[in-house]
Amino acid sequence: MGWTDERVEQLKQLWADGLSASQIARQMGGVTRNAVIGKVHRLGLAGRATPARSERPRMQVARRVVRPRLAPVIQAPIVEKDPVIDDQGRKTTVLTISDRMCKWPIGDPSTTEFHFCGHPPKVGSPYCEAHCVKAFQPSQSRRDRERDKDYRRYLAQS
Ligand SMILES: [Zn+2]
Repeated sequence: MGWTDERVEQLKQLWADGLSASQIARQMGGVTRNAVIGKVHRLGLAGRATPARSERPRMQVARRVVRPRLAPVIQAPIVEKDPVIDDQGRKTTVLTISDRMCKWPIGDPSTTEFHFCGHPPKVGSPYCEAHCVKAFQPSQSRRDRERDKDYRRYLAQS
């Protein structure tokens, strides 16, 4: 297929758009990549590299900047108090826990080290202020989830 004026215009346009020779050949049909390169040289278009190529990344950068972003979720740090210790130096255990104490579990339920937070709970919650926040955090770590599972199992047994 020869280079009609129309096809030359099309070639110029695609080249100006920044398409590669093989992309242009595919799009136009009837020509090989080499034929496109040859024609581009003959037309003196080969120097397009500078405007066409350098404009594209710049546009991409600009687009990336204006893309709306979600504001980062700012979360107040959770200040956990040290667990309550009674006048005999004992932490709150399943034997001493009451409704007036935060039932946040601390430690491994299968060991004697296991205890509860024990601070006064928030009204209508089994946990103190800090542990309420922690309990309802959307992204719990895997360890926390495991721990909660252990805790529920533990409560079911006792
Ligand atoms: Zn607590």
